[in-house]
Amino acid sequence: MPNIHNFGAGPAKLPEEVYEILRSELTNFNGSGISLLETSHRSATYLKLNTDIQNVVRNLLNVPDNYKILFIAGGGQGQFAAVPLNLISRTGTADYVVTGAWSEKAAKEAKKYGKVNLVVPETDKYTGIPDQSSWKLDPNASYVHICGNETIHGVEFDFIPDTKGVPLVADMSSNFMSKKLDVSKFGVIYGGAQKNIGTSGVALVIVREDLLNKALPICPSILDWTITAKNDSILNTPPMYAIHIMGRVLEWIVRQGGLDKMAENATKKSSMVYDVIENSNGFYYAPVAKNSRSKMNIPFRIGSPDGNDALEKEFLKGAEALNLIQLKGHRAVGGIRASTYNAVTFEDVNALVSYMKDFAKKHAK
Ligand SMILES: *Cc1c(COP(=O)(O)O)cnc(C)c1O
Repeated sequence: MPNIHNFGAGPAKLPEEVYEILRSELTNFNGSGISLLETSHRSATYLKLNTDIQNVVRNLLNVPDNYKILFIAGGGQGQFAAVPLNLISRTGTADYVVTGAWSEKAAKEAKKYGKVNLVVPETDKYTGIPDQSSWKLDPNASYVHICGNETIHGVEFDFIPDTKGVPLVADMSSNFMSKKLDVSKFGVIYGGAQKNIGTSGVALVIVREDLLNKALPICPSILDWTITAKNDSILNTPPMYAIHIMGRVLEWIVRQGGLDKMAENATKKSSMVYDVIENSNGFYYAPVAKNSRSKMNIPFRIGSPDGNDALEKEFLKGAEALNLIQLKGHRAVGGIRASTYNAVTFEDVNALVSYMKDFAKKHAK
């Protein structure tokens, strides 16, 4: 197989080493003689896996004892509903900090279940995080929701906001396990696994225990964090294989040196791309403010701040010819997007930046 450099935003590249393990155990899991795909979710095999993965999450992120770790079907968007369903009952209202397409979607979903207060001014150009001093937080909010990393717009929080005692809820679908985190500053952290820690279908949810037992009566049981916690994430048949893959990815992160190493790599890899953009004399253009630039997803335009369709098409075509793939920007923003998740290697990024430099040399005026 040719050497493919996959910069997809999600489902995204997984480490080769994880594939080797998955291949070797596909039809005979842990010597059981059968595949995990045909194993009962009530078996000792699965119960052990369920506990082991929770422990890896707890160790990697240093999750305090008063937080539950849950695996819930329905991905990131399932939790857009679960968050208000589980939390908004306290006051009937919630704060949403909308900094891109994903938090916008989360806020829209929450409106079905209560009142939503938009903390920062509405915009259709997401290019940064408004200074916290300008935020209009509602002291009566049941929670404050942020998106830790906006996958489409490339806007990432580099700080933990001060919510004045109101529980902070963060969607970390695209930067989970990319850096260390003080979990105690959050009420809830959640994310779908398919960007940085596995494959689609499952959300990893970390919730502080005092926030349980508040779900709205209409909350479906399978989205109810309290019921899920009581059943140790085996209320119904969980997306077992997606959970297992997440476990194998998390173990790989541990072997790589943990979250410090992931953070160091993410800073280095993303800087390599941003540096080429900054040093291109305006040939490449990154729209996001420097202090909010994502280390996971790097959207950029070519030719001008609004892009140049012909050049961007040619860039993508030339990239594919070199096996640099899934670089097309999201349709909402256009242009190019390079994702530099944990599994993306320095070799991948080197291939990309050398192509970017060549392309600029050839086409810059
Ligand atoms: C991809 C993504 C989601 C949605 O995840 P699904 O599993 O497809 O529902 C939510 N939030 C963010 C930040 C994402 O990147």
